[in-house]
Amino acid sequence: MKLQVAGFLDNSLVNGKGLRSVVFLSGCKRNCKGCQNPCMQDFSYGDEVDSSEVLERIKSNIPLIKGVTFSGGDPFEQPQGVMELAKAVKELNLNVWCYTGYKYEELLEDKERAELLKYIDVLVDGPFEESLMENAPKYAGSSNQRILELVEGKVETKYKV
Ligand code: SF4
Repeated sequence: MKLQVAGFLDNSLVNGKGLRSVVFLSGCKRNCKGCQNPCMQDFSYGDEVDSSEVLERIKSNIPLIKGVTFSGGDPFEQPQGVMELAKAVKELNLNVWCYTGYKYEELLEDKERAELLKYIDVLVDGPFEESLMENAPKYAGSSNQRILELVEGKVETKYKV
């Protein structure tokens, strides 16, 4: 399946726990003040890439990486393609983190987004709030965002970082 990809990092230590590859997905409707990746809000930014190509790039970083992080933009604007990729990543025994401007509860209201949640191990949810940056937990941008550990799409616990 085709994905609109805004960027890719082979190795990152700041987008979730452990060394991770990061896929940035294009498109976000929020326009949060102070957004770190404003160019990625554009749904046509970056390149249209087949998810199998992204998977090959991820595989090239094994065994160095511990997992893969989806960020953006908002990965939940392309739920089907991201789900296909997340499923394949899990089959490689890598864990999946995902950043989103949606709240977890909002994602449950949409069938495709709720399905994608089943392939995510850790969800960092909620929009970025510039005024709440000061006490942000590690791996989140602002303190209103939650870091949620999921099991089969259900919240297991608040992730201990
Ligand atoms: S949700 Fe994230 S990508 Fe979207 S505008 Fe806010 S900070 Fe930027």
